[in-house]
Amino acid sequence: MPRIILHVDMDAFFASVEQREHPEWKGLPVVVGADPKLGKGRGVVATASYEARKFGIHSAMPISRAYKLCTTAIFTRPNFPLYLSASGAVMDILRKFSGKVEQVSIDEAYLDISNKASDMNEAAKFAAAIKNEILEKEQLTCSIGAASNKLVAKTASDFRKPDGLTVVEPGNEKAFLAPLPVRKLLGVGPKTEMVLEELEINTIGELAGVPVDLLIQQFGKMGLYLHEAANGIDESDLEETYEAKSINRNLTFEHDTRDNTLVLQVIEEMSRDACELLQEDKSTCRTVGIKVRFEDFETHTKEKTLAEPTNDPTTVQNTTKGLMQPFFADKRKIRLVGIRLAHLQPQDNRQKRVQEYI
Ligand SMILES: [Mg+2]
Repeated sequence: MPRIILHVDMDAFFASVEQREHPEWKGLPVVVGADPKLGKGRGVVATASYEARKFGIHSAMPISRAYKLCTTAIFTRPNFPLYLSASGAVMDILRKFSGKVEQVSIDEAYLDISNKASDMNEAAKFAAAIKNEILEKEQLTCSIGAASNKLVAKTASDFRKPDGLTVVEPGNEKAFLAPLPVRKLLGVGPKTEMVLEELEINTIGELAGVPVDLLIQQFGKMGLYLHEAANGIDESDLEETYEAKSINRNLTFEHDTRDNTLVLQVIEEMSRDACELLQEDKSTCRTVGIKVRFEDFETHTKEKTLAEPTNDPTTVQNTTKGLMQPFFADKRKIRLVGIRLAHLQPQDNRQKRVQEYI
């Protein structure tokens, strides 16, 4: 049975989150990065919305150049706590769909769904359901690639962006990669690309046809990787990172509310529910956070690192409710509240180690 791996990649993540938080920015070129200071600013573009990309603006470009390409774009400084909170919510959705998730970065993850789908048809339906839920709950789009291994799934998620879904049937891995330029192959940076270009190897298909000993001669150990990757071979398994795990709970109120008792009640319930999950999982959390979204979509997050890791509902409830208090001074109605438990770790590391010796 071939494996079924999904690679989920959020579309223009930082810029999309900013557009979600500022609905008036939707459909407009948005550039997240350094301050352009009328074209004299230093620093680079972190993310550009798809509307900004139409002007030729892209990530890692000097901000002064981005400004020259589109002076009317909305330039905004990165709000990392906000992106982390959105990322946590997305990863939570992904973990609901599959127990086997490898988070690669703030906006990217692999899912092994070999046990959830029996073929690529089912995988496509599964991926569509994930896209739907992320759109519905987080108002964000992503692109997903489905394939029999990580390498091809990742290439596939990049194939049709934004809001894409690309499925590579088992057996078609090599044919799918073949027409793509070599720089699209995972691990091929500008340097390797230059060397390959000099050897007149421009597509992944051309690279796949080069005898492996020639590649090893040219690139050393990397040559073997290039040979296998170009042929669509990747046996690597998902690396599940415990540390990256977090538990997030959000609730959008039926009607925006200024009822503090109701808000605290919801936070209390969510905290209890999250602690139950921790206890079932025999784990604890070190960081407790909350999220508040006001009626105008302005969103705030607040976190506290505890002195001792815990999965005790009362401790977590007191912390989340305490973090919430200052927001009640605000005159705006609340649209959404959420909690986040992060820096998860096994309940008792030491005990576990002792058991291993017995
Ligand atoms: Mg992305």
